[in-house]
Amino acid sequence: MATSSLSVIRELPSAAAKKPPAPAATLAHTDLLGGAWWQQIPAYRNIDEACFLDHTWQAKNSITKVSKLVETIQEMVPSGFVEDLELGMRHAPMSVRVSPYIVSLIDWERPYEDPLRTQFFPLASRLRPDHPKLGLDSLAEQADSPVPGLTHRYVDKALFLPLDTCPVYCRFCTRSYAIGLDTDEVEKVHLRPNEERWRRAYQYIASRPELEDIVISGGDAYQLRAGLIEEIGEALLAIPNVRRMRFATKGPAVMPMKILSDAAWTDALARVVEKGRRLRKDVVLHTHFNSPREITEITQAAMGRLFERGIVVRNQSVLIRGVNDTVETMTLLVKRLGYLNVHPYYVYVHDMVRGVEDLRTSVDTAVHIEKHVRGSTAGFNTPTFVVDAPGGGGKRDVHSYEYYDPDTGISVYAAPSVKPGQFFTYFDPLHQLGTHQQRRWADPVEQAAMIEDALAKARGRSR
Ligand code: SF4
Repeated sequence: MATSSLSVIRELPSAAAKKPPAPAATLAHTDLLGGAWWQQIPAYRNIDEACFLDHTWQAKNSITKVSKLVETIQEMVPSGFVEDLELGMRHAPMSVRVSPYIVSLIDWERPYEDPLRTQFFPLASRLRPDHPKLGLDSLAEQADSPVPGLTHRYVDKALFLPLDTCPVYCRFCTRSYAIGLDTDEVEKVHLRPNEERWRRAYQYIASRPELEDIVISGGDAYQLRAGLIEEIGEALLAIPNVRRMRFATKGPAVMPMKILSDAAWTDALARVVEKGRRLRKDVVLHTHFNSPREITEITQAAMGRLFERGIVVRNQSVLIRGVNDTVETMTLLVKRLGYLNVHPYYVYVHDMVRGVEDLRTSVDTAVHIEKHVRGSTAGFNTPTFVVDAPGGGGKRDVHSYEYYDPDTGISVYAAPSVKPGQFFTYFDPLHQLGTHQQRRWADPVEQAAMIEDALAKARGRSR
């Protein structure tokens, strides 16, 4: 018999048995930065809210050169920092482009420790030698591309890269082989917007009935004019086998005001989402917050605007050393995203990308953080921690390794539904290993033996 609500109330435990009130720190995720904080930056002292919230002002005043940064922050940084940055930029695989929004959130008195500086401005003093097993296109996206700018790896999903520019350039970008301007270190594979290339991508998608899920990334969907968002959306929605689409953009994390001030862009996205809904097709936005510090009251207003328009937003973070590689920071990020109705979907163990060895963490760190994050909020708002297996194995749950030895830093993954019969190795950064293991890695013969041993053990255990 069903229990009446009255009897449930009578059976409530006594006050003494109740869960004690949560400490104030539990609500830290609701404490968002507001006011005109940007005015503490010398160059933004007279920038009012209307100007700061204008996405065209943000784009026009983005920092691409050291001289412009110095002009903007003036005397705020410790001595030696500018020289360190100049040298760092000379060795970086990514060009620099940082929005005033992000510049204004960096603590310039402590730039060496700041998680936002860490993501966007390379410093020579922090650089470490690349891992010996690292390649430029570590995920082998080009090997799985039937058409330039279209990657077909998973059976039912394709990655469409309509362009190669972003509102900011992240140091750790997996696609540093293509994204942004050429640098001293890397001549890029360019994927400029090109109707003919796009048409070939649509034709390929239409020719493969198993392709149901299309990710439109880049580059970044923020850089597509409103008309192009609609053009791409309509072209893909018209393909009968396409059932799901995701527009991917880092925009909300680095320039949230565009959602508020570029009504044409937001309306275009909303129209594609609405049309998709009428066709019973799912169109969502995927974004990329890495630090709880990227989330302010402006972000809250922007994400609120998308929520009102019925646009689902999911987040994919990268686990980055010095940015979000502690239980406290990752939990705060996850809870803050959930608070804004952004679903924390994935946390990627840092890809093996050139020139950013200082940013990587280990599989062990990811497993540890995941254990603590799980349970801090609802399961549907808890991200899955994944390794995007180098060599094209796709995303694997970080715990699902066939073999892992934290001492040698070698993990081996299988991807039976993506590349049956193959094994994929991921390597923790060498500077986090013990001296003995570092010495073994310095010897090419030992190196090969360690990897062969790990693969043999994985083969023995794999099911
Ligand atoms: S926004 Fe995305 S694609 Fe662009 S540089 Fe950053 S990580 Fe790479």
